[in-house]
Amino acid sequence: MSHRIQIILWMVFALLLPVSLRTEMVEIRHENFVIMYDANDERSAKFLWKTLQKVNPSLQEFFHLKLQQRIVIYWPARQMDFQNIIPTHLPDWVQGLYLPQQKKIVLRRTVGMNQSDDLSQVLTHELSHLYLHQLLGDIPIPTWFNEGLAEYLSGKKINISEGVILANAIFSGRWIELEVIDSLYSFSHPHAQLAYIESYTAVRFLEKYIQIKGLNWTNFFDIIRAFGFEKALTEVSGMDGIDFEIKWYRDLKEKYQWFIIFNWENIIWITLVLILIGAMYAVRYRNRKILLEWDKEEMMEEEPQNVYHLSDKN
Ligand SMILES: [Zn+2]
Repeated sequence: MSHRIQIILWMVFALLLPVSLRTEMVEIRHENFVIMYDANDERSAKFLWKTLQKVNPSLQEFFHLKLQQRIVIYWPARQMDFQNIIPTHLPDWVQGLYLPQQKKIVLRRTVGMNQSDDLSQVLTHELSHLYLHQLLGDIPIPTWFNEGLAEYLSGKKINISEGVILANAIFSGRWIELEVIDSLYSFSHPHAQLAYIESYTAVRFLEKYIQIKGLNWTNFFDIIRAFGFEKALTEVSGMDGIDFEIKWYRDLKEKYQWFIIFNWENIIWITLVLILIGAMYAVRYRNRKILLEWDKEEMMEEEPQNVYHLSDKN
């Protein structure tokens, strides 16, 4: 093959390569939402559509808000497409992003993602960001509240492994102050995981005060709109941000520090100690049994002698 033909073939290959990698995006609609997805992935798109049908009415009710604008939900075909679409570089653990200016939610396809549960949870989480932003506009909101509320609305519950994460953070003193969660996107994956769990528990802790005061979330949002987040927090909890955080942390400690027993290292130690205690009891039981058997044998050996002596005396 001549050098010239080789160059032409390489040029054709280079031109064809992006075409072969490009995916055809199609759309499916639900009210004012447009789900854009890869034509080959109709199954996931239908699942997103069904999730939207299910969760959107609940979010409308929770926020007392009906969205009017066209919202795009973008579900790219490949993991790497996520980073190409969003305007900034984000860590690999980010599974979705709400872009307020573009009224767009971009979801990321991740390895090992459970299509049904994870996708539904991520979409609901991002929809919560969308609704909160539409409701409060550009009023500054701490990240812990925004993320914690999104986790709460997407149905989060603290499981044993998350309880262990909290307990470890409490015992090691490496728990994250709520204010620091504002720089969430600079966190490593484990650090971010802890930040989301903490945010969720802080929102649930705040909810308790809202209820004690005889109010609901709509009232809380109204106070935020009128006076800002800090004042709304003080109004419902009777504490400033610092005291709220101290009380939240104490509550967290009380509820979750005992989860430390589920820590793998502790489980191994506890199991070893239990095996040791069990082995000690087994040995003691065996020894007692042997001693009893010896006693029995001795008694049996002694009995004929007594008979002999008795008969002898006769
Ligand atoms: Zn989020």
